[in-house]
Amino acid sequence: MAKKAARKVVKAAPAKGATAVTKAPVKKAAVRKAPARKGAAKAAPAPAKKAAPKGKAKYVYFFGGGKADGDRTMKDLLGGKGSGLAEMTNAGLPVPPGFTITTAACNLWYANHKKLTPEIEDEMLANVRKLEKLADAQFGSSTNPLLVSVRSGAKFSMPGMMDTILNLGLNDVAVEGLKARTQNGRFAYDSYRRFIQMFGSVVLEIPKDKFEHEFEAVKHAHGAATDTDLGEDGLRETVERYKALVKKVTGKAFPQDALAQLKGARDAVFRSWNNPRAKAYRRIYEIPDHIGTAVNVQQMVFGNMGDTSATGVGFTRNPATGAKEFFGEFLINAQGEDVVAGIRTPQPITELEKVLPHAYKELRQITTRLEKHYKDVQDFEFTIQDEKLYMLQTRNGKRTGYAAVVIATDLVAEKLITPREALLQVEPTALSQLLAPVFDPKEWKKLAVATRGLPASPGAASGQVVFTSEHAVEWVDQGRKVLLVRKETVPDDIHGMEVAQGVLTATGGMTSHAAVVGRQMGKPSVVGAGEVAVDEKGKCFTVNGQVVKEGDWVSFDGLTGEVKIGQVATNPSEILQVLGGKMAKADSAIYQRFEKLLSWADKERTLKIRANADQPDQAELAYAFGARGIGLCRTEHMFFGEGRIEKVQRMILATTEADRRAALAELLPLQREDFYGVFKHMHGEPVTIRTIDPPLHEFLPKREELMVDIARLEATGGAADVLAEKKTLLARVEQLHEFNPMLGHRGVRLGITYPEITEMQARAIFEAACQLAKEGGKVVPEVMIPLVGHVRELRDQKLIVERVAAEVMKEQKVKIKYLVGTMIEVPRGAVTADEIAQEAQFFSFGTNDLTQMTFGFSRDDIGKFLGPYQERKILERDPFQSIDTVGVGGLVAMACEKGRKTRPDIKLGVCGEHGGDPSSIHFFHSVGLNYVSCSPYRVPVARLAAAHAALQVKVGD
Ligand code: ADP
Ligand code: MG
Ligand code: MG
Repeated sequence: MAKKAARKVVKAAPAKGATAVTKAPVKKAAVRKAPARKGAAKAAPAPAKKAAPKGKAKYVYFFGGGKADGDRTMKDLLGGKGSGLAEMTNAGLPVPPGFTITTAACNLWYANHKKLTPEIEDEMLANVRKLEKLADAQFGSSTNPLLVSVRSGAKFSMPGMMDTILNLGLNDVAVEGLKARTQNGRFAYDSYRRFIQMFGSVVLEIPKDKFEHEFEAVKHAHGAATDTDLGEDGLRETVERYKALVKKVTGKAFPQDALAQLKGARDAVFRSWNNPRAKAYRRIYEIPDHIGTAVNVQQMVFGNMGDTSATGVGFTRNPATGAKEFFGEFLINAQGEDVVAGIRTPQPITELEKVLPHAYKELRQITTRLEKHYKDVQDFEFTIQDEKLYMLQTRNGKRTGYAAVVIATDLVAEKLITPREALLQVEPTALSQLLAPVFDPKEWKKLAVATRGLPASPGAASGQVVFTSEHAVEWVDQGRKVLLVRKETVPDDIHGMEVAQGVLTATGGMTSHAAVVGRQMGKPSVVGAGEVAVDEKGKCFTVNGQVVKEGDWVSFDGLTGEVKIGQVATNPSEILQVLGGKMAKADSAIYQRFEKLLSWADKERTLKIRANADQPDQAELAYAFGARGIGLCRTEHMFFGEGRIEKVQRMILATTEADRRAALAELLPLQREDFYGVFKHMHGEPVTIRTIDPPLHEFLPKREELMVDIARLEATGGAADVLAEKKTLLARVEQLHEFNPMLGHRGVRLGITYPEITEMQARAIFEAACQLAKEGGKVVPEVMIPLVGHVRELRDQKLIVERVAAEVMKEQKVKIKYLVGTMIEVPRGAVTADEIAQEAQFFSFGTNDLTQMTFGFSRDDIGKFLGPYQERKILERDPFQSIDTVGVGGLVAMACEKGRKTRPDIKLGVCGEHGGDPSSIHFFHSVGLNYVSCSPYRVPVARLAAAHAALQVKVGD
């Protein structure tokens, strides 16, 4: 019966022979050449006219009947979904027809007081008519209604961020038409009920739970346990209650006019671009706010027409591990979001082969073809309506960093892509995920498995349980590690997911929100742990009789899905174990892939990569990660080692030069030893050593602490000599007190007032270098003077360094090559770089201080106002994380140019935090620096980002 009924509606679905109906698009030439790709990404909001240089701009793109106005190259204008639907249509795949309203229209809508122009409204209407013809159904018809979905779709996919409306076009008469055509009243009224609910919440902004409340009441009255237990009568009653609810809340009846519904839904999609969760998502993923979303209007196909219908989603490879296996989930007799929403737990896609073998076979064929066509893993959506397969979406699948490396190297091995293409497939930051810790296997075994869920995103997670995202954020602010446990996550949970060690959900499949977002964030996630009963109100969950309360420790492994109660220690990642010599390369497949990918990157990049490392062991790690040189060795970090700080304090407390020299003489061998180690681990690569930089009081105890100590000693009659010592210390601390230490007595200023410090440091550097040279090692020291704003400052210090270098080389009877240069981190230094280059053989941009001084933002206090700055779009990003290319970058570019003018072979590099940030690396590449230097753990990221920069791709593209 269901089958027979279902057949009838097939007519309403896209007809195969409908090709003739599509007229050749008039402005095709203009469309293909639309330069809107770049324009839309930059201009804010994109002036839509730019979309088509000749003739009238086109805002609506049709797809259907084997032909589409757009294609895969038009993501900026059509969004990812729209361009995918166009591309699949052109490839002759079974895609329900429809049209895409462009992102340019969205931007125009915002610019035009939330209205489209009459011309665009007409253009849309013409496309509705075209769709009606092709579908052989009419909008709002009482006998043969055309039903559509209205789907958002920006250039970058934002899973669950914006709302989709299904079954649009239904009204009180159309629902009867649908019933008559399908002979299925239950289906017709279920569709109408869903539509009112979606339209009511998304467009009319009536809270979802009000609808749920009504629905529950009807289910209760009818004694129905689940949605599917409710028959036509119950659903009719639900529809009536929903309509009454709409009337009560909005004061107006539920809109019956299909076209008005369409406009309302379209505008709601435009509006949803700026809802708080979409904004939050964009901030996290650094997606520009001004690119806007497209709207896709597409004829409905029905997965909820009975047991020969289904809906599902999948991936051509495993997005968590990268394994080459068909991967996905489906639900029989269900519609759209049911799979993702985690309401019913879906079946694995391999089951589909048993129940609907023909559709399954076709799906395999199509998706394999899509993967070959796009040369990348595809994430697809499909619906089967009475055994007939329809494709509803395809896009390059989001994956974990781990999977990204596996997939990219596999695709090269399969000869589907080149190593270059493989590089571009992996986001540089994804590599840091591969360095995340794993559980210590011995510790892990000690605890019993409490339950298992689906391994949605790999990684070891151990934390204190919280049940809401608000709590997660609060607790993490207090310095705790948390695990977010939810029945299922919703898009609003993104803040909590971001800060948590991991996410555990009780319902939902491998493609649920928690799983998709978890993988994208690289956040360990286990989902659908069905034995976990979450009581959010009671702040606890039970699992097999055990009760876990808020604050209790729980651990899980996102690669296996095992969940344990308790805290478990972690081990470094496999890659770190290989690099640290604790595991053989041959035993780690992921290490081999990681190394292969980075070796491809090294062939492409022109920027050299150095590391910021202060101590021999860090230098060793940095070298293992592929750093070839040290860009910043901060000598003061060596002062904090055991038994050293007292010597440093003695040096600071000295009142005469002679005393100070005596204290420095004690520090000298310690520094020499460190430098020797750092040189040695760099195997002849250049090492930049910076002379002392921070204000001296940083090496002394805090004033308040000393005062407390003194008071206590006095009260308890403590030892007189200790008391005297503390008092001297306090006096010196007070003497050294500065009102503005960051702009105070630090950097080169210290070297100028205490030349003996520079002398000692230079001596330590050259003695270490000579020693290594005598042992046959290669060594290239680069002595770097910090905080220089005037060439005379540098000249003063350079004289000392050169004198000491000559002395040491004479004493040691070896000659070594070395350079003397400076950091450019004071704006005056950048502006007078041509003068400074007379003395400096290299510049290293200290972009942390340079940002601080260029903006006049204290980097330790920016947290107080950065939020509002970003909300009001004064700043897009934190300039301490990602370089401000215009202002701070402008100074960098100018200093490069001036420096090269004076000294054409001047070496240029950067050693600020920005040296490890991919988009900043693009900038440094563009101004022609010789190298970037970053923390050892960022080195792999920098190697890949530098290759991307050389291959000229914009980050995020
Ligand atoms: P999202 O971007 O959140 O995935 P989509 O617009 O892709 O939103 O749609 C949500 C769900 O609705 C998906 O499962 C999709 O397959 C389904 N869907 C969208 N349009 C149609 C349609 N025309 N017919 C049937 N199902 C649809
Ligand atoms: Mg989708
Ligand atoms: Mg500095």
